[in-house]
Amino acid sequence: MSQAPLSLWWLRADLRLQDNHALYHASQRGPVVAVFIATPAVWRAHDDAAIKVDFWRRNLQSLAAALQEKGIALRILEADSWEQCPQRLLECADELGADALYFNDEYGLHEQARDDAVVDAWQARGLLCQRYTDQLLFPPGGLQTQAGTMFKVYSQFRRRAYEALHGSLPSCLPAPEAQTASAIASSSVPDNFSGFSAASEAQQALWPAGEEAAQERLQHFTQHLLEDYQEDRDRPDLDGTSRLSAYLAAGVISPRQCLHAALQLNHGEFGSGNPGAVSWINELLWREFYKHILVCYPRVSRHRAFRPDTEAVAWRDDPEGLHAWQQGETGIPIVDAAMQQLLQTGWMHNRLRMISAMFLSKNLLIDWREGERWFMQHLIDGDLAANNGGWQWSASTGTDSAPYFRVFNPLSQSQKCDPDGTFIRQWLPALAHLSPREVHNPPAGDLLNAVDYPAPIVDLKSSRQRAIEAFRSLGAEA
Ligand code: FAD
Repeated sequence: MSQAPLSLWWLRADLRLQDNHALYHASQRGPVVAVFIATPAVWRAHDDAAIKVDFWRRNLQSLAAALQEKGIALRILEADSWEQCPQRLLECADELGADALYFNDEYGLHEQARDDAVVDAWQARGLLCQRYTDQLLFPPGGLQTQAGTMFKVYSQFRRRAYEALHGSLPSCLPAPEAQTASAIASSSVPDNFSGFSAASEAQQALWPAGEEAAQERLQHFTQHLLEDYQEDRDRPDLDGTSRLSAYLAAGVISPRQCLHAALQLNHGEFGSGNPGAVSWINELLWREFYKHILVCYPRVSRHRAFRPDTEAVAWRDDPEGLHAWQQGETGIPIVDAAMQQLLQTGWMHNRLRMISAMFLSKNLLIDWREGERWFMQHLIDGDLAANNGGWQWSASTGTDSAPYFRVFNPLSQSQKCDPDGTFIRQWLPALAHLSPREVHNPPAGDLLNAVDYPAPIVDLKSSRQRAIEAFRSLGAEA
């Protein structure tokens, strides 16, 4: 009797069993072995944060246990570069006697080049290689304008996405059935990947690994927070958002699972009904939009401005200002508290990402790419498309971005998003004793001298004007 053919499932940022296209289809074919390729040198070159790499590792540990229950072995390979991936996978297939490879698409120029090379190498050997759209609801470029191009304006993209979802709602696939326990030995998941330290205990407690933890978070959010999301989403002093971004970025949860959970609360409606659910689905579609932009306009993947006319902005060379911003020592409490949240937890609230990104790119007039890089080096949810999209939005260099003359005032933003100063006090204990009025803008002089907190490194009014002039002098469009 001939043995069923063996398939490899190459797992990357899709660290889950449920609703995983590549895994599901591989398991439909027959027995599967899961393969992960550790490439620490590439992760370093891509500025992946230590806390994010450790989150992958911890999720890999949790997945290894779940795979074992399904009788699926996990092999961990190593490579110095992504160019070595085709060879590593073929060697693994030869060793195990596998004749097919299944994986889910990843986006970004390097990722796509790596995956295309793998497909070519497998096909050249006459082996089956199947790839799937899984990180997204629609394949990039799958939603188009009437002229057959990718959208540049988000609201138009969203309208088209609603239509497409009304036409056909992507369903969630089940986890694979258990298979006869593999005789192939699994690799053990390392305690750390070379050059990436493990997250602290407090950070690990904040971001528990595993599909179950992600599902619990989704359930808590949809049951207790989603209805009020519209009102609370801009308040970093409240627990008002899902905090699922790290799980979505690592693929511990899928966008379809999130969408279905929101639709369930909202009786199947996308664009009407409960404002919280509508608003959250809107954010899931921003995630989708930026990934489509990344693929359809590859210059953003090369760290170029989406709008070429903004490439000539005369960014200031200000290492001291950059350092103060990075360390949360700008003297603007909401910016500094936000940067502390990032440094200590690996995550920052969305409103604060916008405020701190605008402060760097406008008030300090420092190249947005410096901020993009710093965020990537520290975020547990660091994602090329969303990070680039958020930075280019804030710097007014992106598609559908903030007009260059609409510069946030961090003090009024602070009063709106943290009215009592609770968030600032949490992250800047030196300001804990200040009144709700003073905490946003500590008074200069004796009071400030008495606390261990710097004076503002920049005058907000004149620096705002300087930024507007820098854009206006280019003849930049709003
Ligand atoms: P929720 O409010 O619960 O939203 C649900 C999900 O929708 C998020 O988990 C995320 O996957 C997605 N989402 C929400 N807002 C956005 C958005 N504006 N753009 C794209 N997707 C969104 N998000 C990342 O996932 N990775 C990043 O590296 C990243 N960098 C950013 C940098 C800047 C300068 C800015 C302004 C935003 C950035 N964002 C990034 C988007 C957003 O800030 C985070 O997704 C959000 O704060 C995550 O918290 P949450 O999971 O509680 O979000």
